[in-house]
Amino acid sequence: MPGTNRQLTDLSGTFELSGGVKMPYLGLGVFKCDDAVQAVTSALEAGYRLVDTASIYANEQEVGTAVATSRVPREEVFLTSKVWNADQGFDSTLRAFDDTLARIGSDYLDLYLIHWPVEGKYKETWRALETLYREKRVRAIGVCNFLQHHLEDLMADASTMPMVNQMEFHPFLVQQPLVDFCNAHQIQYQAWSPMMQGHVFKIEAMQTLAEKYNKSIAQIVLRWDLQKGVATIPKSSKQERIVANADVFDFELHPEDVAFIDSMDCGKRFGPDPDNFDF
Ligand code: NDP
Repeated sequence: MPGTNRQLTDLSGTFELSGGVKMPYLGLGVFKCDDAVQAVTSALEAGYRLVDTASIYANEQEVGTAVATSRVPREEVFLTSKVWNADQGFDSTLRAFDDTLARIGSDYLDLYLIHWPVEGKYKETWRALETLYREKRVRAIGVCNFLQHHLEDLMADASTMPMVNQMEFHPFLVQQPLVDFCNAHQIQYQAWSPMMQGHVFKIEAMQTLAEKYNKSIAQIVLRWDLQKGVATIPKSSKQERIVANADVFDFELHPEDVAFIDSMDCGKRFGPDPDNFDF
């Protein structure tokens, strides 16, 4: 069940989604990645088995190339992409999905997400995702940036419930009631910008924790995600960081340190507000 599987083994480990699909709990994000072929190649070599892209990142093709040229079979890599706001609506989402598959060079996706809750559009978009899911062209479907009221509105008319909610999530933006709501509805929470787009490295208290566990700040924050049952997709384009960021399976944060990181929450966003975006 989302949020309740705390069995953290290694990079091949997964959280099970509500439809039964197993999603790796730690993957590579490739937003603003200088060289996505290189980054994804490094990640797959390091044992990562999930890559998070989106049509708006303009690197789906590179992601597909890296997977195709790696030694890892396509079926062992969990590929996520997202429908961009301008493509929302029923027919346009189906077309956007076809374009995404063509760029990636695969005949299916593992997870397709609505990128943002575009008012007046997201329910039609969701109908398209349900269709793709029914046709088995995608193994799991979900959303990003949906607050509780967006989820409630979507679920009121949905025939398939969202399996994932990918949200900005880090020590300054925990939104625990939303995490609890998702857990209660078997919606797996997944953290975007888990390292605050780099700002987490400036927090002194995180440095103190890193010294206490003899780990890096990145490792502390990613381990915190996983111990909270939150899947996570840190981005780096540097091979040594990609490798080091995944070295989080040889230690465990004490519950009081998990609670201490939780207590840093001050509602600060580094990305747009899902209730107030204009793109
Ligand atoms: P992150 O919080 O993952 O931070 C990435 C930044 O941290 C980069 O500048 C990276 O630099 C740096 N970094 C990574 N590892 C280390 C390290 N060990 N030490 C020091 N610096 C480090 O930010 P993102 O915004 O990229 O979020 C992650 C992913 O989430 C995205 O790539 C994307 O896939 C997804 N996302 C989804 C959104 C959505 O709306 N659904 C919105 C935003 C992101 P460098 O590359 O130079 O190592």
